Amino acid sequence: MAYFSTRGESCVIASQAVLRGLAPDGGLYVPAMFPAFAPEQMADLYGKDYAGRAADVLKVYLEDYTSAEIEQAVRAAYSPERFDDPRITPLKKLDDATWIMELFHGPTLAFKDIALQLLPHLMKLAAVKNGEQREVSILVATSGDTGKAALEGFRDVEGTSCTVFYPMDGVSDVQKLQMVTTGGNNTHVIAVKGNFDDAQTGVKELFNSESFAKEMDARGKVLSSANSINFGRLVPQIVYYFSAYADLINARAIAPGDPVNFCVPTGNFGDILAGFYARNMGLPINKLICASNRNNVLTDFLNTGIYSTHRTFFRTLSPSMDILVSSNLERLLYEAADRDGALIRVWMNQLKECGSYSVGEQRRDWIGDVFWGDCADNKDTLLEIRKQFHENHYLMDPHTAVASHVLRQYRLQRNDPTLTIVLSTASPYKFAADVLRGVAGEDAVKDLDPFACSEELERITGMPMPKQVRELRDLPVRHTAVCERDAMGPAVISEFD
Ligand SMILES: *Cc1c(COP(=O)(O)O)cnc(C)c1O
Repeated sequence: MAYFSTRGESCVIASQAVLRGLAPDGGLYVPAMFPAFAPEQMADLYGKDYAGRAADVLKVYLEDYTSAEIEQAVRAAYSPERFDDPRITPLKKLDDATWIMELFHGPTLAFKDIALQLLPHLMKLAAVKNGEQREVSILVATSGDTGKAALEGFRDVEGTSCTVFYPMDGVSDVQKLQMVTTGGNNTHVIAVKGNFDDAQTGVKELFNSESFAKEMDARGKVLSSANSINFGRLVPQIVYYFSAYADLINARAIAPGDPVNFCVPTGNFGDILAGFYARNMGLPINKLICASNRNNVLTDFLNTGIYSTHRTFFRTLSPSMDILVSSNLERLLYEAADRDGALIRVWMNQLKECGSYSVGEQRRDWIGDVFWGDCADNKDTLLEIRKQFHENHYLMDPHTAVASHVLRQYRLQRNDPTLTIVLSTASPYKFAADVLRGVAGEDAVKDLDPFACSEELERITGMPMPKQVRELRDLPVRHTAVCERDAMGPAVISEFD
């Protein structure tokens, strides 16, 4: 199957889309069509494990990968050494109409592991298929979660390396510790003296620099990106929508063909977009509920059809959703615009030049048939964590709590009894202080460091602390490099020389 750029000026095959990440015209790669998943194919999934389901879904998209390659990749990615639950994305029942899908059982305790455990395998194969002899060197700028997930995904994957830049004073203590203690022979972590924007701008400059490409080439390396706009990160996320449906059938909570809703805590729009793709393939999804925090640019867009970045940026309790430009929305716009790349170019130019664009009422309504959006502030988030723990004995992280709160609003407004699956994107222990605050109040966290908060949370809730959090205190620091914001290129080179 071919992949088109959303801006209309590039067409490649699957492995090239994975290897390149972004299209040369600045657009995002989208599949030429959405392969329909027949009822028999759906029924085939019921009896399979997660890796088997993943292989079935991936095969219909990655046409220039062989079945054997895909089978091998998914077995390596979704193995018991990597995930602490054999079901990979286990479903938990909250009440008759509400289930939670836990996407945080991977090595870094956040949902990005599901895609970033698989992407390195797809990348490595893509390099071979396209005659790329050089080492594929991944560069990532991170505000926290993505960096660690990329490092764990690419760690010790032959033919690749992964270098992560993080803002020296811009990530949490736990996030920093998670990164600087990373093992593996091909991982590099560098602190940038600056904020996240400095790190991100620096990485973009490196991608655009011919002289840097030459220096890397001289060392037998070619640059690539593990950013969430890479189609290789999107396609693994389609899998768990199908898998959730299969699990609900097996649990006799639904019958084949019954509609379900998914409620998704959203930042860059990658996770929820994968749900839209699953729906286009025939999965019976009624509504996709888009949950935002106080940075509610998507809520406003879904309500008005106007996307505007003229707004204040807030730091919230759900930092992975603190985003004003949702890159993956471009893929939804492409469908809403009847795949008119020229129109996407106009909107994206307006966004760049004026900070906003409007898709018009008709297209807004078309999007609104599937998507519904609302938001939760910090107070709503803490209250939701408290409620879910005390009423349902379910411990949620702040991102998941945003979604859970928004689902309540949806039901109040729409009175829709359809069974709904809430996507849980992070372990509560990744944000132990705030979760403890939610469960036990402000006083409970007084004078506690992040480790003490985790221990207190375990004591109060009885929910076991993941070993990744427990180990963090004792792991040796392996990465201590620091660089000025205008010296990121030399910093990368000195890691390799
Ligand atoms: C990245 C992330 C999100 C947002 O996902 P998008 O695909 O960017 O919408 C939500 N929760 C957590 C914990 C994340 O790490």
